[in-house]
Amino acid sequence: MKTILLIVLVLCITWCISPEIDQQELIKQQEIQKKINEKELEERRILEEERVKLKIIRAKEIEQEERAKNNLLGNDLLEETALLNKQALNVLNSEVTLVKDDQEFDIHTDNSLTRFVNNTTPYNGLEYIPQNLVSLEWEYTKDVKWWAKLRQEAADALDNLAQNYFLRFGIPLDIVSTYRSYEYQKWIKDRGCDDTLCAKAWYSEHQSGLAVDFWEASEESRFRENEDLKMYFEWMKQEAYKFWFTNTYQKGLEIDWYWIEPWHWRYVGEDLALILKEYKITFAEYIRSPESY
Ligand SMILES: [Zn+2]
Repeated sequence: MKTILLIVLVLCITWCISPEIDQQELIKQQEIQKKINEKELEERRILEEERVKLKIIRAKEIEQEERAKNNLLGNDLLEETALLNKQALNVLNSEVTLVKDDQEFDIHTDNSLTRFVNNTTPYNGLEYIPQNLVSLEWEYTKDVKWWAKLRQEAADALDNLAQNYFLRFGIPLDIVSTYRSYEYQKWIKDRGCDDTLCAKAWYSEHQSGLAVDFWEASEESRFRENEDLKMYFEWMKQEAYKFWFTNTYQKGLEIDWYWIEPWHWRYVGEDLALILKEYKITFAEYIRSPESY
């Protein structure tokens, strides 16, 4: 009997606490699962954070690479531009020391027929005015302004040149610009013409009274496109030296300090005109050249 009672008691106890044990176990398991989940979530969060960090780092790297590439390109362009500017400045600021101190021709005296001027070599006298300026009134020229003047030597030579031009083409030679005073050149510059196309006042060949501009065209391209202008210019290139004129600006900025000007001719006297023609050089080239011609 005692045994039976004991068994019943054990069974009863087991029965009574079993659900309790199950319940506790379940809670425990749930807690474990919760922790696992939390840990997983945390790990995932960390992983996600790492991924985002890596993504940001890579994006920054790409941005830096792009920037470096652009800077490199930018630097190249800047360097290239700086070099070009430097070359242009070197050309424009070539010192007078480059100028050949020629024994044969007087290139320094203002009233010398071979006086050399460029945009860094002005006249000695700021408002130098040639003494023997004469008016130009001939039948072989046209569009000559009433105030147009040249030095006597250049005017005589131009008269001959214009007559030959008339014989060749049957038309008078257009004279657009001749002597320009310091004040007149200043007035032109004040209207905004660039230094590489229009000389500064005090630095213009026109102030010498020896330079003349032909034809109503001040763009080099027109002398390549317009058949008439092309023909007149070709003739002038062949013939003008016989009248002791030279085309001052024919080789561009780096050689002549100005852009090409097919219309601008300058009287230089017989000897220099022949040398420039024979060696196919400009006055500026002659001046800067170490060789003797
Ligand atoms: Zn000119």
